[in-house]
Amino acid sequence: MANDIILTGDRPTGRLHLGHYVGSLKRRVELQESGEYDQINILIADDQALTDNADNPGKIRDNIINVVLDYLSAGIDPEKTTICVQSALPALHALTFYYLNLVTTARLSRNPTVKSEIQMRGFANEGLPTGFFTYPVSQAADITAFNATVVPVGEDQLPMIEQTREIVEKFNKTYGETLVLPKAVIPENEIQRRLPGVDGKAKMSKSLGNCIYLSDTPKTVKKQVNGKMFTDSTHLRIEDPGHTEGNVVFAYLDAFCRDDYFAEYLPDYANLEEMKEHYRRGGLGDGTCKKFLINVLEETLRPIRAERAKWEADIASVYDILLEGTSKAKEITNETLGRVRKAMRIDYFEDRSIIGEWEKLLKEAKQ
Ligand code: ATP
Ligand code: MG
Repeated sequence: MANDIILTGDRPTGRLHLGHYVGSLKRRVELQESGEYDQINILIADDQALTDNADNPGKIRDNIINVVLDYLSAGIDPEKTTICVQSALPALHALTFYYLNLVTTARLSRNPTVKSEIQMRGFANEGLPTGFFTYPVSQAADITAFNATVVPVGEDQLPMIEQTREIVEKFNKTYGETLVLPKAVIPENEIQRRLPGVDGKAKMSKSLGNCIYLSDTPKTVKKQVNGKMFTDSTHLRIEDPGHTEGNVVFAYLDAFCRDDYFAEYLPDYANLEEMKEHYRRGGLGDGTCKKFLINVLEETLRPIRAERAKWEADIASVYDILLEGTSKAKEITNETLGRVRKAMRIDYFEDRSIIGEWEKLLKEAKQ
C-alpha cells in the first residue's frame, strides 16, 4: 500500500513478554519486512506511562532501555523503523492541549477501556488523575502527529482509535481538512489477541505476574512451564483421555508451534493436530507435552536472547538509535503541529502578515 504510515508504541512500565510478542511485536517485524509502508514509527510512551506512575518516574526511566532492547532483539531494525521517545517530542504536548478542547468529559467517561483501568488501579476510590483520564486524547495527538493511516493495536485499544477518529473529524470540520484519519488493525486470531498467562488466566499481564518475559533465562522459562502451567484436571493418568481446549500448554503450542519443530523434538507426530488427537484419545503424558513446549518456546526465545546480549554490551549505540529516531520524529511531529496551528490561525509568529491584518482591523473599527 503506497503512502501508508504506521504508528505503534508501548508504555515503558516493564520488560516485554510473550503476550506482547504474539500480540504486537512479531507483527511489527513482519510489517517492517513487508516493505509496504512508507514509514513505520514506534513511540515509547513514557509520558503516558507517567499518567498512572507519577510517583515513580524512575521506573519509567529504567524501563525505556528494557523496552528498546526488547524491540531490537526481536528484530525491529532502526534502519527501517523509527524508534522515538514521547517526552522528547513537545509537539505532542501542544497537540494534546488543543485536542482537549474538542472532547467532552462525558465522552471520555464513556471509554470502556479507561473505565476498567480506573477500577483496576483503584482510582475510583483514591481520586482520578486528570492526566490519566485524558490519556486517550494524548494518544490521538501521538497518532495524528505522525500522520498515521494504520495503527496496529490490541483489542483493548480500539476505543482509543475510535476517539482519535472523532477528534480528527471534529478538528477537520472546525478548522478545515488538516489531519489524517487513521484506521486500527487488530491481530487476526484469538490467541494473538489474548495469550493466556502461565497460570491459565485469560491474559498474560505484568500486573497479574503470570508472564514469560522475552529476556527470561532458559532456567526461568523451564520453571514457569513445569511449575506454573496446569494442564487438564481430568487427565490424571497418561492413558486417560485429555482435553486440549482450555489447556494452557496447548494454547501456547497453538501460538508458537511450527510443523518443522516436530521432526527435531517430537518425531512421533507430523503436526500439532496429530499430537492433539493423541492427547484427546489418551496415552500422551503432560510431561512430554511440557518438554516439547519448552523446546518450542526456546526456538522463539533463543535468538531474541542472543541478540539482546549483543545490544546489552553496547548501550551507547542503543542510546544513539533512540536519539536519532527521536530527532527524526521531532521533525515529523513539529511539521504536523505547524499545520495544525496554521489551520487554527494561531500561527502568529510564522510570518508578519498579521501586522497588516491587525492594522486594518483597527482602522476599520475607527470608521
Ligand atoms: P499491565 O499489567 O501494566 O497492563 P500488560 O502486561 O498487560 O501490562 P500492556 O502494557 O497492558 O501489558 O499491553 C500493551 C499491549 O500489548 C496491549 O494493548 C496488547 O496489544 C498487547 N498485549 C499485552 N498483553 C497481551 C497478551 N497477553 N496477549 C496479546 N497481546 C497482549
Ligand atoms: Mg494491560
